Amino acid sequence: TTANIGVVGLAVMGSNLARNLASREGNTVAVFNRTYARTQELLDEHGDAGFVAAETIDDFVASLAKPRTAIIMVQAGKGTDAVIEQLAERFEPGDIIVDGGNANFLDTIRRERELRERGLNFVGTGISGGEEGALKGPSIMPGGSDEAWETLGPILRSIAAVAPDGEPCVTHVGTDGAGHFVKMVHNGIEYADMQLIAEAYDLLRRVGGASVPELVDVFRSWNEGDLESYLIEITAEVLGQQDAATGGPLVDSILDEAGSKGTGVWTVQNALGLGVPVSGIGEAVFARAVSSKPEQRAAVRGTVTSRPERPEVPDRFADDVRAALYASKVVAYAQGFDLIVAGAKEYGWEIDLGAIAKIWRAGCIIRARFLDRITDAYTGDPGLISLLADPYFADAVATGQAAWRRVVATAVTAGVPAPGFSSALAYYDSLASERLPAALIQGQRDFFGAHTYHRVDREGVFHTLWSDDRREIETEPSTH
Ligand code: NDP
Repeated sequence: TTANIGVVGLAVMGSNLARNLASREGNTVAVFNRTYARTQELLDEHGDAGFVAAETIDDFVASLAKPRTAIIMVQAGKGTDAVIEQLAERFEPGDIIVDGGNANFLDTIRRERELRERGLNFVGTGISGGEEGALKGPSIMPGGSDEAWETLGPILRSIAAVAPDGEPCVTHVGTDGAGHFVKMVHNGIEYADMQLIAEAYDLLRRVGGASVPELVDVFRSWNEGDLESYLIEITAEVLGQQDAATGGPLVDSILDEAGSKGTGVWTVQNALGLGVPVSGIGEAVFARAVSSKPEQRAAVRGTVTSRPERPEVPDRFADDVRAALYASKVVAYAQGFDLIVAGAKEYGWEIDLGAIAKIWRAGCIIRARFLDRITDAYTGDPGLISLLADPYFADAVATGQAAWRRVVATAVTAGVPAPGFSSALAYYDSLASERLPAALIQGQRDFFGAHTYHRVDREGVFHTLWSDDRREIETEPSTH
């Protein structure tokens, strides 16, 4: 038998993806795993799906029809490099190696270049949706060449999640590492989104005095409007879960120290390098780090003096928090899309932002109703300078703005941390300010380091002789 597609790596993600592929008409799926016991397990449990199972990598490669196409789903990093090498030694020019793991896009750029020099296609592909997505339909973000996309496109379209309008959630994001870059930004936005929801929960509970069962209803009702999304939906599920041990809400029995696997950190590191202020994602990464410092938290806990015993609860507080959450979320997405724009410019990708918002509408963790609005914004104006400047979002933020300010003020007064809400508002207010104190910073920089400054009233580069007679001199002749 010959297979049109193969999967290497049959842990949870790979075996689910293989089952997804095998369930689609027209696919015959070859499977291989370093340790055969895992392959055997897949055959024992789901052998009726008609897999072509290989015990050796040679048999696996021999079972693939040309151009050979294999998706690697192994541990990111060294595991991926090892499997790529095993396949590359056996593949022929025109064959396609797909890495569906969570690779760093810089590794993907390197691997694509090395394999292209050997005549092989390498397609780094972001896959979001976890185990269930892999099985039932993930959101898929492939990079790689146009040539590879011709073969791979129909296969990926057949297994991707389907958006409400019937479109599969996959698009050719761009060349080489573009897919993994966009997956990285997706995960960064996911961090921000989760942090904002967590702050809303915390404020409603600690300031608003809501009980956990009441909050289940609040999040369920929020899931009906603009905020409708997978993360809001599962928030209601998590809050509604009872702990068998205590009989109380499970959330109260879970240790409040958030972990992470590092993609949020990658997003922020790259954004820093590219000079893109993804403050919402940054605050979310930092908030997890703060939560995971129990000794520092214990040491500082007793020192607070000005936190009111019973904070004053503003009227219609839940509505205000909802508005603050929505506005902050728009900021987080605006920043994330700015990062994609900057990445595309730096690495030479042509990325259709509207198409990215479209493929995030189903299958992935940040799937949400309002992504349709983002698609509309970028389709209407592909050169849109910021999502916050789009008429729809500008209006949405304007409408909720007074509430957003009240919530941040209330959080600060009550001593309840809301770094996501407040930094999003600070970002918005920075963009919206006529003048920024950056003028003073330029003055300081010129004072201690002769770093020079521009003037508002004429062209040229200027420096004040601070330690001399404080005359202003022009350091470079103006171009006019
Ligand atoms: P793991 O990340 O746990 O990796 C285990 C698999 O990697 C096994 O099949 C293992 O083979 C194989 N492997 C590890 N090292 C090597 C090696 N040197 N040579 C050959 N095979 C090797 O599996 P998951 O299914 O959890 O994840 C697979 C990929 O998907 C990862 O890159 C992960 O980051 C990503 N992922 C993505 C998620 C998403 O939502 N998109 C969610 C979870 C993971 P063996 O059985 O022989 O040990």
